[in-house]
Amino acid sequence: MSGLKLNNISMRFDLANGSHVQALEDVSLDLQPGQLMSVLGPSGCGKSTLLNIVAGFLAPTAGTVTLNGHQVTGPDAERGVVFQKGALFEWMNVRDNVSFGPRMAGQRESQYGSQVDHLIDVVGLKDFRDKAIYELSGGMQQRVALARCLANDPDVILMDEPLGALDALTREKMQAMVLNLWKETGKTVILITHSVEEALLLGERLVVMAPRPGRIYKEYNLPFAEQGVGQDLREVKKQPAFTAMREEILSMIWNMEEEIMGRQGDVA
Ligand code: ADP
Repeated sequence: MSGLKLNNISMRFDLANGSHVQALEDVSLDLQPGQLMSVLGPSGCGKSTLLNIVAGFLAPTAGTVTLNGHQVTGPDAERGVVFQKGALFEWMNVRDNVSFGPRMAGQRESQYGSQVDHLIDVVGLKDFRDKAIYELSGGMQQRVALARCLANDPDVILMDEPLGALDALTREKMQAMVLNLWKETGKTVILITHSVEEALLLGERLVVMAPRPGRIYKEYNLPFAEQGVGQDLREVKKQPAFTAMREEILSMIWNMEEEIMGRQGDVA
């Protein structure tokens, strides 16, 4: 019973004006331990809602999420979340941020200290251990967020646009780091991104979602994440198979967005 299973998840938001939004309809997924799945789709197709349900922040209106055989009923350290930005404790230094989870779990410095220092090294912040968060660049802050998440040793890491606020060069470096961390730690990862390139580079599985109602539109198994571990990701991106897949997915999402715009035009 290991792995993460989403069984027929639906989510309906009832609005104050009497109407409703079907944010998700009958979404089922099965992730094996250690898989990295990226999720793409136009705005409003339910990506964040899905992530929030797996995190346990939202209860679905129908369906269940199970992790290693038990049902998810709320947030838990077994499922760590990395947001786009803003979830760090600004007033604490890097080490206190990274060690926050173990400290809250009642661990002593002797239990968590060496692992926390190791994680800070792994994300490349060895010389910034004592710096406050506000002294760091956006990329460095996301490194702290990743290390802080890993310090809780979650089974599943949920990432909602974790690299979305970074400049292109920093983003590329961080993509390589995420890939290497995934391989090293063997964690199950769900990554939401708006970047088709990022989804293809990092996801050994890719789910494309469609809106109204939010649902799984298409699924792919991809070779690029495996090829990219420890490699120059630019070389991976140059492959004809990569560029062909990028074009296919871009057209798919483009067409969905055109259809949404068309529908909005009809209403107006
Ligand atoms: P995405 O992350 O793909 O952009 P979301 O999951 O944020 O999509 O939203 C899916 C749909 O559900 C959207 O139409 C959004 O407006 C709606 N929605 C999300 N959260 C709420 C909420 N708390 N109340 C009402 N509608 C919501």
